[in-house]
Amino acid sequence: MVTTMRTSSHQGTAKTFDSLNPATGEPIGTFGVFGEHEVAETVARAREAAQWWAGLPGKERKARMLAWKSYLTRYIMRIAELMHAETGKPVADAQLEVLLAVVHIDWAAKNAAKVLGPHKVRSGIVAINQVSSVEYQPLGVVGVIGPWNYPVFTPVGSIAYALAAGNAVVFKPSEFSPAVGGWLVSSFAEVVPEYPVLSLVTGFGESGSLLAKSGVDKIAFTGSTKTAKKVMAACAENLTPMVAECGGKDALLVSADADLDAAADAAVWGALSNAGQTCIGVERIYVAQDIYHTFLEKLAERVKGLRPGDDREANYGPMTMPGQVEVIEQHIADAMACGGRAVVGGLGSIRKPYVGPVILADVPESSTAITDETFGPTMTVTPVSSLSEGVKLANNSKYGLGGSIFAKNKNAAMAAARALNSGMTSINSVISFASVPSLPFGGSGDSGFGRIHGADGLREFSKAKAITRQRMKPMVNLTSFTRTDADMKKILTLASLLHGRKYK
Ligand code: NAD
Repeated sequence: MVTTMRTSSHQGTAKTFDSLNPATGEPIGTFGVFGEHEVAETVARAREAAQWWAGLPGKERKARMLAWKSYLTRYIMRIAELMHAETGKPVADAQLEVLLAVVHIDWAAKNAAKVLGPHKVRSGIVAINQVSSVEYQPLGVVGVIGPWNYPVFTPVGSIAYALAAGNAVVFKPSEFSPAVGGWLVSSFAEVVPEYPVLSLVTGFGESGSLLAKSGVDKIAFTGSTKTAKKVMAACAENLTPMVAECGGKDALLVSADADLDAAADAAVWGALSNAGQTCIGVERIYVAQDIYHTFLEKLAERVKGLRPGDDREANYGPMTMPGQVEVIEQHIADAMACGGRAVVGGLGSIRKPYVGPVILADVPESSTAITDETFGPTMTVTPVSSLSEGVKLANNSKYGLGGSIFAKNKNAAMAAARALNSGMTSINSVISFASVPSLPFGGSGDSGFGRIHGADGLREFSKAKAITRQRMKPMVNLTSFTRTDADMKKILTLASLLHGRKYK
């Protein structure tokens, strides 16, 4: 099966590359490899577009964003088929992904003015003569560098919030999903034809690096931890700020009182959907000892009938990126070599470009199958003495992205959710936080920093502007050379009354 990318020289000038269907090897389209000049030109045009877009009344920007979500909803079948062809994911999963993106565009459009518009704040007794307010202004041009695994939902998580905050966006999709990226950009031009408010840069890592160095006002990067470090180094050249949404090794915790059928069902979806190529996918499962064997049986039972493929009945597709198969193979081999056992599948599940479902049990915590992102349709299942031991093992990771807890006891579940070292946790479901647009999304450690989605996501793509307006003369003018010793005495007396009391 041909799944690699071909590069060629196009008419002796600009380089191009073909995007290929990962299941069949058929070409999807030919795209330019943007060089320094092309990236600089795109960013310069985006700068003009940014001025126009930021100058539109908020209501007009909102109307255009809502027109975009309506366009995406109406043409969902077209984009979903393209996503299926380019990444291999089932069409229904692609549709679900677009719907999630639509929900975020809708929320960002409807909430931008409320979150970012001027808010009065209390000035405090020392500055009682001032009226103070804070508002959030657009940054200008935001560069969005995206991955291929959720080629619509993931970049839209940055693009929608950056656009709603009044910025123009230059989008560099993954070299594995340029056709979907291009379609997304064209769809926005259908509703905003005047200026390239959302524009496209295609190519490999080097084109992304050029975008990071281009002097854009922020980079929103989603991809691997390894690449994030390179992007951060490129951003450092111009002190360009960055938000980094990187990999994960999310855990699902099952308490002894959990609804085991619901937990098994969610675990299987969380681990296997999209062939496990999900940053917030379930990779590790920690199960209370008392119900461990029952849960494992339920898990195996559910996985039995599932299979990858390119046909409409397949539960998930091929590995989009050929190189990932080796990582999966290494993790399974390491787990087995360390004394783990394959309850379902194993090394034999690998039939390129497909990987069948794999359930690994009794894998030591030191194995790469537990410590590193596998990004495949595999899961490890480990018994724990309690929910708190589950939290402890889940937290013993360099990543801190998402996670889930299955437990009937609400208080225990909430306490465990708070204790998990992750940006997001779902209780009694998986991945649900991604579908709640008002919730911030992002991680810590090797999972990155900064937040997209929600009010935090809108603020991530804006700069705070503080304004004070003097509404009356101060009782004592402290910031003047006319200030007297008597003025100072008054203020020191006030300060000692307000702040000088002893605290026990
Ligand atoms: P990747 O790091 O290989 O590539 C991501 C993007 O960065 C691509 O567009 C690529 O062309 C570009 N790039 C590569 N080198 C670059 C450089 N030196 N400078 C600038 N840009 C460069 O990641 P991937 O394989 O596309 O995506 C998979 C990874 O993304 C996984 O680790 C997954 O967990 C993560 N991911 C995270 C989230 C999240 O929200 N946290 C969401 C989806 C995927």
